[in-house]
Amino acid sequence: SVDFDIQRVRADFPLLSRTVHGKPLVYFDNANTSQKPAQVIEAVDRHYREHNANVARAVHQLGEEATAAYEGARDKLAAFIHAGSRNEVVLTSGTTQSMNLVAYSYALPRLQPGDAIVTTVMEHHANIVPWQLVAARSGAIVKAAPIDQRGELIVEKFFELLTPEVKLACVAHVSNVLGTVNPVREIARECRRRGIPLLVDGSQAMPHRPVDVQALGCDFYAITGHKMLAPTGTGALWAKREHLQSMPPFFGGGEMIREVRFDGTTFAEPPHKFEAGTPNIAGFAGVGAAIDYIQALGFEAIRAWEHELLSYATERLRDIPGLRIFGEAADKEPVISFLIEGAQATDVATLLDLEGVAVRSGHHCAHPLMQFYGVPATLRASLAFYNTREEVDAFIAALLKVRKLLM
Ligand code: PMP
Repeated sequence: SVDFDIQRVRADFPLLSRTVHGKPLVYFDNANTSQKPAQVIEAVDRHYREHNANVARAVHQLGEEATAAYEGARDKLAAFIHAGSRNEVVLTSGTTQSMNLVAYSYALPRLQPGDAIVTTVMEHHANIVPWQLVAARSGAIVKAAPIDQRGELIVEKFFELLTPEVKLACVAHVSNVLGTVNPVREIARECRRRGIPLLVDGSQAMPHRPVDVQALGCDFYAITGHKMLAPTGTGALWAKREHLQSMPPFFGGGEMIREVRFDGTTFAEPPHKFEAGTPNIAGFAGVGAAIDYIQALGFEAIRAWEHELLSYATERLRDIPGLRIFGEAADKEPVISFLIEGAQATDVATLLDLEGVAVRSGHHCAHPLMQFYGVPATLRASLAFYNTREEVDAFIAALLKVRKLLM
C-alpha cells in the first residue's frame, strides 16, 4: 500500500465529511469538478475580507494587493506547466473559453474554404464545437481521428489526417470519459514535422499528472481550474509567444488596450490583450492556493494513491457480472466509465445517489464517443487523491444493491 496520509488529506476538504440522503458522501464525480481544500476556500474568503479591489487600475494599496494575487496566480500557473514565460499564460474562465479564444482569434483568420481542423472521436464537445463553428464560417471542415475498442487513439490514423490543408490539430491530453492518456509528445513531434500547430486539451490531465508544455512540444494547452481544486470560473490558455503575438484580440473592452482613439485603437501586449474586463480575481487567488496545495502534496504521492485506487476499483467492478467497462487503455487516469447490462445509466446514478454515492451518468459532453460505442450514455466514476479504498467498497456495495433492485 502507498504511504499517503489520507485522513490528514481528507481533513483539508470540508465538504467530504457531509452526508447525502443520510449516508456518508462518496464523491466520485471528480472529473466533473473537484472538491476544494480549506486552503483554497480560505484564499477566496481572505481576498474578499482583506484585499478586495479591482486589478491593474488603482495605485492604492488594495488594488496592488488584488493585482498581486491575480498576477501571482499567472506566475504560479506558468511555473506549474513549465511555460517559457508568464506572458504565455492567458487567464480565462476555463477550457471552454480557452478553446474559443483559439478558435476565433487563431484559427478563424487562417481558415480558407477547403482547409481542415483535425480532432478525435474521444473529445469533449469543447474540443469539437468551437472548431465546427469557425469551420462553418470559413468553409473549412472538421475531421475526427478514430479510436479503437479499448478507447485508445489510433495514432497512425490521426497522422494520416494531417494533410497540407490542416491548419490546426487538437487532442485531449486525457479523455474525460475513458481516462485514456494520449501520446501527446509523439503527436506533437509529428505535427511539428508537418508544420501543423497542435492544441492540447489539458482539462483532465492537470489534476493528475505533472505537465511540462515545453517538453510536450505542443503549441496551445488549455486548462480548467475547477477540476484541479480551484474555484469554478478559472482557467488558462498557454500558447507559444509567437502565436499570441499573431492573434488579434477576441474580447474587446477595458484592460486589453494601450490607447483607445476613434481613429484607431492600439492593444496591450499578450497576455493582457486577451483579458478584457474585470476577471475572476478571487477565483485566481484560489488558483494560487490550489497550485500550492498540489505542489505541497506532490504528484508522486498523488499519482501513486490515485493509481492504487484505480486498480482496486477496476478490479472490484470487473467482479460484477454484466458490468461493462469502457476505456481500457494501457495508460489511463482514474476515470472509469461503465454500464450494467439491462439497467439505464440514469436509473443507476439516481439510485446510487440515494446511497450517498455521486457518480455522473449521461453522455459526458462527448456525443461522438457515445456514438462510437453505440450507447446513449455511460456511468462514470472518477476518482481523486482524497478518495479512499473504503469509499470504493461503499460504492461497490451500493452498486450491487442497485443492480439487484433493477434486475
Ligand atoms: N475538456 C474536457 C476534457 C473536459 O473534461 C471539460 C470539462 N468537463 C472541458 C473540456 C470543459 O471545461 P470547462 O467546462 O471547465 O470549460
